[in-house]
Amino acid sequence: MPTSLGGLDEVDNLAWACPACNLSKSDRVEAHDPLSGDAVGLFSPRQLTWRDHFEWSGYQLVGRTPVGRALIPFLDLNSAKRLAIRGNEDLLGYFAGSDDPPV
Ligand SMILES: [Zn+2]
Repeated sequence: MPTSLGGLDEVDNLAWACPACNLSKSDRVEAHDPLSGDAVGLFSPRQLTWRDHFEWSGYQLVGRTPVGRALIPFLDLNSAKRLAIRGNEDLLGYFAGSDDPPV
């Protein structure tokens, strides 16, 4: 929860994020499910289980729920750059590609 919306500046309210994801999220707490257009809360790894909301299709991340579908375009999680990184991770044996959250 962003401090601008009443979130506390405490470790329990902070999360590690790369600069791209941090800037994309900014102070937003909702995204739109591209299938229904409905606004949904952002996926919270502290409250939700990754594999309930996402799955892999090759190197593409696929949303299984409105929350999962909304987060993928919100954070551009299937950008060409990310797909290339996953392909290279796979070549080196580091691509999770199963039930694990993307790195
Ligand atoms: Zn990121």
